[in-house]
Amino acid sequence: MSMDTPGSQSSLHRANLERVLRAVRMAGSLTQAEIARSTGLSAATVSNIVRELKESGTVVVADTSSGGRRARSVSLSGDAGIVVGVDFGHTHLRVAVGNLAHRVLAEESEPIDVDVSAQQGFDRAEAMVERLLAQAGFRSDKVIGVGLGVPGPIDVETGALGSTAILPGWTGIAPGRELSQRLGMPVHVDNDANLGALGELVWGAGRGLSDLAYIKVASGVGAGLVINGQIYRGPGGTAGEIGHITLDEAGPVCRCGNRGCLETFVGSRYLLNLLNANHPGELTLTKVVQLAQQGDLGCRRVIADAGRQIGSGVATLCNLLNPRRIILGGDLAEAGELVLSPIRDSVARYAIPSAARQLSVVPGTLGGRAEVLGALALVMSEMGESGAIRQPAASAAAHA
Ligand SMILES: [Zn+2]
Repeated sequence: MSMDTPGSQSSLHRANLERVLRAVRMAGSLTQAEIARSTGLSAATVSNIVRELKESGTVVVADTSSGGRRARSVSLSGDAGIVVGVDFGHTHLRVAVGNLAHRVLAEESEPIDVDVSAQQGFDRAEAMVERLLAQAGFRSDKVIGVGLGVPGPIDVETGALGSTAILPGWTGIAPGRELSQRLGMPVHVDNDANLGALGELVWGAGRGLSDLAYIKVASGVGAGLVINGQIYRGPGGTAGEIGHITLDEAGPVCRCGNRGCLETFVGSRYLLNLLNANHPGELTLTKVVQLAQQGDLGCRRVIADAGRQIGSGVATLCNLLNPRRIILGGDLAEAGELVLSPIRDSVARYAIPSAARQLSVVPGTLGGRAEVLGALALVMSEMGESGAIRQPAASAAAHA
């Protein structure tokens, strides 16, 4: 393989092989016709490649039916490799272990203290990864990579968390490097909104779509943007910071230093402040959603107003990117129609009709698991292609 030169027959074959593998890996399983459609390769080429991948044990092929006709579904072999997802949230640490065939083999979530130091957080994450790998029955040398989610933008150049990250005590730390050193595994890092988008794209409310935005509303507000089936991050890694769209120049001062950002109207600490005066006891966003569902008028009003503000940000996003679907995630999404319906009203009011026409606004289907499943998908999306192709038989090269 090292003798391949660009443009040669064998490097073209290899590129096609990798396209097929990537399509199957991101979809979980596809029929050969679907592979041809999504890669643009001919049916004959797909058929040859699938046979080769099957012979090497990289994929498994099963009989299925598609539209009433017999078809063969292709998925990655369950022991082709293990992926690990780690999601650090504002109040939780969640870890999942899965295989390339999209099966989650072990998963756990623990509450985490908001003020926990980064080192303590990594200690906990390291222990959880080792425990879950053991529980799933795999040694660490089977792990292809780890996806790591953090609640804030990652600086592309330094790999460090930006200053607007929500976890105190983490600013300036490069979480990917830290976890990679501890585990001895390659680690891919991304922010929680991008991972939520990937999670819903691969496993949830965005399956089968190639253009969508996932809006996470919790302590902070962020968007993960999927354009042409890929996460769009921008050159500095800060694309999707929808929470810092200015809604009111004279509004409250935001943690980013500006005034009147969307987040200062819908982020949880601002919403809770509005209700503290006449709701005794400790309020959380989850509690506010519960009270609203039980008919509490103040909570319903606060959630509806937040929905209108989010909708105004979503309208701007639709005018710029024209996504097919907006998927709402984070604690506020649990309010369902109480928040979705005002979002839709605002979008109808502020977005260009042609951008709003094909748009659906839906809740995520993965809830609090979106980010950790997105972390698994991140590894599948970013892993080096050659690592995924098994070569137990010398014959694999002979086809080239
Ligand atoms: Zn801001």
